[in-house]
Amino acid sequence: ERVLRVPDAGLVLLVGVSGSGKSTAAARWFRPTQVVSSDACRALVSDDENDLAATGDAFELVHTIAAKRLKRRLLTVVDATNVRKDDRAQLVRIAKEHDLPAAAVVLDVTEGTANKRNAERTDRDIPPRVVSRQRRDLRRDLKRMDREGFRRVHVLRGEEEAAAARVVPERSW
Ligand code: ATP
Ligand code: MG
Repeated sequence: ERVLRVPDAGLVLLVGVSGSGKSTAAARWFRPTQVVSSDACRALVSDDENDLAATGDAFELVHTIAAKRLKRRLLTVVDATNVRKDDRAQLVRIAKEHDLPAAAVVLDVTEGTANKRNAERTDRDIPPRVVSRQRRDLRRDLKRMDREGFRRVHVLRGEEEAAAARVVPERSW
């Protein structure tokens, strides 16, 4: 068993390509109200979880909800791919603005695993080239993610490590 320590008051970023299992893990590890999902926010502003033109508005909403929750010192999980450094930096900044820590939990699966799962999905159609690009972004940053201002960076490789992981909140200060 692997213990993932996350701040009891602060931000947790799930990080991983489409099909890496972020939403599945979030449902296992956290209460529904603790999870802010970019797809759910996209659906709220566009009636369509897949409407890419709504991405800007969806993330504004993610950031706003995260900030409101952090103001109340609530554990807040961001369920989005978070493979781009700039996207993570914005979220880390929001945590810091509230004097709270952020942690990252990376679901590092192979492209093969992600593509296989995505092919079986009925909720979304995610082409392998999208996963490829996300994977490239993630790989480039993975080794240096611990210098992005996170209190902890947990990297889970493959299904087994994710399945064996358990989340334990720790005192933020
Ligand atoms: P997206 O970024 O597109 O939202 P995601 O990272 O949230 O993707 P999930 O929706 O959690 O990915 O998982 C994608 C698919 O893979 C789902 O159909 C899910 O049931 C399946 N899946 C997730 N985790 C596992 C696992 N550990 N073993 C087998 N299948 C899994
Ligand atoms: Mg998801």
